[in-house]
Amino acid sequence: MKEYQIAVLKGDGIGPEIVEEAIRVLDKAGEKFGFQMKYQYALLGGCAIDETGMPLPQETVAICKAADSTLLGAVGGPKWDTVPGDRRPEKGLLGIREALGLFANLRPAVIFPELRGASPIRPEIIGDGLDVLVVRELTGGIYFGERGRRTVNGVEAAYDTEQYTVPEIERIARVAFDMVKKRKHRVCSVDKANVLESSRLWRAVVTRVHEEEYPDVELSHMYVDNCAMQLVRNPGQFDVIVTSNIFGDILSDEASMISGSIGMLASASLGSGKAGLYEPIHGSAPDIAGTGKANPLATILSAAMMLRYSLGEAEAADAIEAAVSRVLAQARTADIWTEGMRQVSCAEMGALVCEAL
Ligand code: NAD
Repeated sequence: MKEYQIAVLKGDGIGPEIVEEAIRVLDKAGEKFGFQMKYQYALLGGCAIDETGMPLPQETVAICKAADSTLLGAVGGPKWDTVPGDRRPEKGLLGIREALGLFANLRPAVIFPELRGASPIRPEIIGDGLDVLVVRELTGGIYFGERGRRTVNGVEAAYDTEQYTVPEIERIARVAFDMVKKRKHRVCSVDKANVLESSRLWRAVVTRVHEEEYPDVELSHMYVDNCAMQLVRNPGQFDVIVTSNIFGDILSDEASMISGSIGMLASASLGSGKAGLYEPIHGSAPDIAGTGKANPLATILSAAMMLRYSLGEAEAADAIEAAVSRVLAQARTADIWTEGMRQVSCAEMGALVCEAL
């Protein structure tokens, strides 16, 4: 039987509760599709600070590097809000992404037909549902460029620099083009090439990678301001969106909120190898930790992404997503509950997804 080594970082707040349900679902999928998971647990965030004084112990880095992939809950909480900046739980999050060389962030914005009513977008605009994947460059651009303060004409000024190298653009373009294989074969590259020199290079490199390596994929280009508008006007036109760090930061939040609930949104961060880091986009929700109210579906759907993108178990991933869809037709956690539905706890939701599998 195939065996996968999975590093598990439960984290803080609702992290342990939601990760537990994702693990139950992964085990069930393994039973059904003929693979076995071996889990290695490690500390990240506030729980790591409590145990070791640091948000990202070296042991955690070693365990994640040795694994086929990493599953993460969420980190942080009021208990650690007063620790010094370089030892905050969020530092652990940035640190592990950097240590694993993860340069691509994938955020699917999917509307399950059962949750159409939860979207802030009108049903006639959503149509039969929505399935957009935002591929955001994660380690370059203005968030990492030269910055500083200086005096300009006698007044104080500050600057940040957007810079991309050709290899940085090539590798993120390849991630996006590779993603369309099982999708609708359309990539939209988003930039601001009418104004920014870095965007002009971005557009030229994406165009060349497309021509030379992926001529079968449909490629379009769009300015970021137009894209922000089109995402709420006609989101169905998009399949895969690829964009820079800062534009992706903003557009992926916009795209994901179209789908309604924060408890449903999964994400993946990938590097040059197969291994990745998979986590829900929400935080550790300290306000509901320990109450059984957390929605585990974002983490369960992140685990499905791990099966698809890192472990080559696409069939199992499809089955988990279909099971989630079936469960949503009858039962909901409090955050997405509506009249007439059965309201269930975090653990009950995990059990129902396993049953539906
Ligand atoms: P949050 O995402 O934790 O919570 C925002 C709201 O959404 C809360 O009302 C919460 O109860 C609700 N919510 C979130 N996930 C839910 C789920 N699965 N089911 C049901 N309801 C859910 O954001 P926040 O309150 O701004 O941050 C709380 C802590 O999480 C902070 O310490 C923050 O730094 C941290 N955080 C961590 C990550 C991460 O680990 N990737 C991301 C964002 C925030």
